[in-house]
Amino acid sequence: PQVANQIAAGEVVERPASAVKELVENSLDAGATKVVVRITAAGKKSIVIEDDGCGMSAADAELALQRHATSKIETSEDLHLIASHGFRGEALPSIASVSRFRMQTALAGSSEGVEVRVDGGATTEVRPAAPRMGTRIEVLDLFLNTPARLNFMRTDKTEDAAIIEVFRALALANPSVAMLLELDGRKRFDFTPQDERSRVMAILGSDFSDNSIEMAIEHEGMQISGHLGLPTFHHRDSTRMLFMVNGRVIRDKQLLAAVRAGYRDVMFHDRYPVAVIRIEIDPADVDVNVHPAKREVRFRSPQAVRAGVISCIRAAIEKMGQ
Ligand code: ADP
Ligand code: MG
Repeated sequence: PQVANQIAAGEVVERPASAVKELVENSLDAGATKVVVRITAAGKKSIVIEDDGCGMSAADAELALQRHATSKIETSEDLHLIASHGFRGEALPSIASVSRFRMQTALAGSSEGVEVRVDGGATTEVRPAAPRMGTRIEVLDLFLNTPARLNFMRTDKTEDAAIIEVFRALALANPSVAMLLELDGRKRFDFTPQDERSRVMAILGSDFSDNSIEMAIEHEGMQISGHLGLPTFHHRDSTRMLFMVNGRVIRDKQLLAAVRAGYRDVMFHDRYPVAVIRIEIDPADVDVNVHPAKREVRFRSPQAVRAGVISCIRAAIEKMGQ
């Protein structure tokens, strides 16, 4: 299982930022109202995530570190479950197999807690701990036992930038959650619970410079909404273009292309707009399991999605012109 976990880790945790993404998503899934992320040395030394979510019982905490995908696919029903919910139960065992991993958690309202320690996936130690509100996970010395991954890591500056991008996107997708990011002891973001527009402005406000427009349309059963920058506030890269599908942050080349196509008539071809696009779509019309890290999706009807995004942007541009 250690080797299987390390192989899975190669898919799920490519770099510190992907571990941050998985852990913060778990905190959000646990219903946290506050998530704190502390990073040391670009996540190479330590990644600490604290949440006030529902926590886990001792038994569940231990289970969470066992790999679901290989151990549990026994019946076609299991396969169906995996097809509908994604590669479940990969993240924690994967991360724990390539780090020194510590987790303290307690079930909400319980009078006792538990601490689980895993060192490079080799040993799992479970011991009682003080009760607490939510879960605290510490990932130390990431990739300590996978030299190839370690060598593949970029400079601290680059890895920090990737963490910031992941954090920003998750914060955008979850405006009602308080979220704090600290890099080497310095606060980088400290978001209080906000409405959607305030969170967008808190994150991209200086890019929009107050010159943004909101637009929401319905297109073939999808709800497509956007906070869109004016064409004069463009950029040379796509880092200020963010997409959420059913509340999950995704990265999709076709959506990037659709947004640029929407702006085509009003923006130079080598420039990128500031744009936050949300798509609410019937879950049956989108496959979120293309990649274990769950950043890519496959739409049943990509043409309809593209057309919807383009109409949303065209409508916004028309409104801008008025
Ligand atoms: P998945 O999220 O796909 O289920 P993970 O490996 O990320 O797989 O997590 C395994 C399980 O551990 C989750 O399903 C959840 O039950 C539990 N878990 C992980 N992180 C947390 C957390 N911060 N709070 C509460 N439960 C958690
Ligand atoms: Mg998860």
